[in-house]
Amino acid sequence: MPIDPTLPYDDNNIFAKILRGEIPSTKVYEDEWAFAFEDINPQAEVHTLVIPKGRYVSWDDFSARASDEEIGGFVRAVGKVARDKGLVEPGYRMMANIGAHGGQEVPHLHVHIFGGQPLGPMIAR
Ligand code: AMP
Repeated sequence: MPIDPTLPYDDNNIFAKILRGEIPSTKVYEDEWAFAFEDINPQAEVHTLVIPKGRYVSWDDFSARASDEEIGGFVRAVGKVARDKGLVEPGYRMMANIGAHGGQEVPHLHVHIFGGQPLGPMIAR
């Protein structure tokens, strides 16, 4: 079920539990601002998720409330994960779903990184 991105942050969401180490994940990268891990149900050859360490429901929430430092650190982490995975050439796609129309299911901001194959049209029709 898509989430309502206007709800307050829920500390029991699954990605909060991954951040706290309460449930396992396949870690790809971690720094002060971000944590990256493999998607449990990959939609492409490469499907990695990058999440901020802070308590943000969505990109909307993050862009409105996060500090410049948090935003800078997170954006750099997303770029680094893609570079470290060798995706820059021949290219990759990143995506953040927000709310019901976006199809967001987990209420902690996550950027999807897809790659390793041609990714087809931007939006399914
Ligand atoms: P979204 O629809 O943008 O909220 O995407 C949620 C993503 O989280 C989906 O691609 C799921 O496969 C992924 N996911 C859900 N639970 C886990 C988990 N425990 N570990 C890794 N990825 C997960």
